Formats: sequence, structure tokens, C-alpha cells
Amino acid sequence: MIKIHHQHLLKTLPDAVLFDTDNTLYHYDPAHKTAMDAVEQKITDMFSINPEQFRVAFNDARAQVKQRLGETASSHSRLLYFQRMLELIGLGSQVLLALDFEQTYWRTFLNHAKLFDGVIELLDDLRLLGIPTAIVTDLTAQIQFRKIVYFGLEDHFDYIVTSEEAGYDKPHKAPFEIALEKMQPQGNRIWMIGDNPKSDIKGAKEAINAVTFQKLHNGVKMGEGDMAADVVFDEFNHLIKLVNSFNTSEQILA
Ligand SMILES: [Mg+2]
Repeated sequence: MIKIHHQHLLKTLPDAVLFDTDNTLYHYDPAHKTAMDAVEQKITDMFSINPEQFRVAFNDARAQVKQRLGETASSHSRLLYFQRMLELIGLGSQVLLALDFEQTYWRTFLNHAKLFDGVIELLDDLRLLGIPTAIVTDLTAQIQFRKIVYFGLEDHFDYIVTSEEAGYDKPHKAPFEIALEKMQPQGNRIWMIGDNPKSDIKGAKEAINAVTFQKLHNGVKMGEGDMAADVVFDEFNHLIKLVNSFNTSEQILA
């Protein structure tokens, strides 16, 4: 499925393409759930707390960290969540355990995260067309770089901007503007591909007037109103076809 709501924005190929990562290039929810289960198993084996107590403490810890840090990269830090969770359980900061849970979380997460079909092919097609690409992602550089390497994506795009580097999470304009500063696109027709209606779609529209594409799959709600994307799609194969249709004949989309 691909629905083009604003055909007139797609008369030419883009001058640059920006990609979100989490839940856009792969399905976030199953990887996250399995990773949380692994940490829960570890902590309930180690201490006399039950899964319900773990979840309550973790959710409280996460909410406190987010409340304190606002829309910044470290507000997503699993290390800080686990540290605060251990404190809330009454065990003190327990730095070794916090590090261990963080490692368990991300190791399990990466083992269960699978790139969506067509992502690498789309990136390669864009490269063949001479269109620069960048990843614009929230969270800290360390784990986002690890994800990119794990997915084997490091040679398939030109630049990355994390919210750690930018100082702000999307939808703040800084990450988008830094991406364009790095890419120096030839024109102003920029595509942004992401899953989040507020961060990726509304954010990129307001920051850099991007043509926006929302990736839909289980658990993703289609953006509405000023968070509605110009194009919605559920499989990257549709974007590959779209990109290549310009190549063969611009008339197809005229
Ligand atoms: Mg995302």
C-alpha cells in the first residue's frame, strides 16, 4: 500500500533523503518487548521482586528520567532508567548492575531487531541516482551507531545526526538543519521518511519544509491534521518503485 496525498510535491526526484531509524527501518516493538523480558528475567532471578514490581519500578524510573531531561538524547538512556529503577527498588545506584542490565537489554534488542525488507535496496537505488542520504535519529550516538553497524547499514548512507549531537530530540529543528548542513543538497526538495507523526512528519515539515513519508505497520498510528504525511506507505518496495518511476519516465507521476 502506498497513498500519495500530495501528488504535486512529487514531480521530481528529491535533492536529499532523510531517514528516521527506530520503528522506521525496523519494527521496534517486538525487539523492545523481548529485551525488557530478558532484563525482567534477570532481575527477578536475582532479587526477591516479582515481575509486576519490576514493571512498576521501571516505568516510574523511566517517567522520572524523562520528566527531568525533557526532549534530549539522554532522556532515552536505558542506563539511566535501570540506575533509577534500582534506586527506586531500594538497592542504591548499583552501577555494575545498571551496566549489566543495559548490556542485556541492547544485546537482546539487537538480536531481535530485523531490518524491514527493501531498506538497503532503496538506499542503494538512491545512491545510484546520486541522491545524498542521512539518518536523523533520537537517542545517544553510542547505541545508534551500534545499531547501524549491526544492521550492516554503515556503508549505505552518507551522514548521521543523533539527538545527542544536535542537543535536542526531533521535532526540534536542530537535527534536521544539521543534517542539511552536512549534506549540502543541490536543491530544496528534501524527503523525510519516518514513523512518528509528531517528531518525523510535523517536525520535518516545519523545520525544513520536507516532503514527508510515513512508514505504517502494526502499532503505528497514521498522522492526522498537521501531522499527516504527504505520502503514507507500508512497504519499502513501494518507495523503490516510486523512486525508479522518475528514472524511467517523469510522466508517470506528473
Ligand atoms: Mg521512529
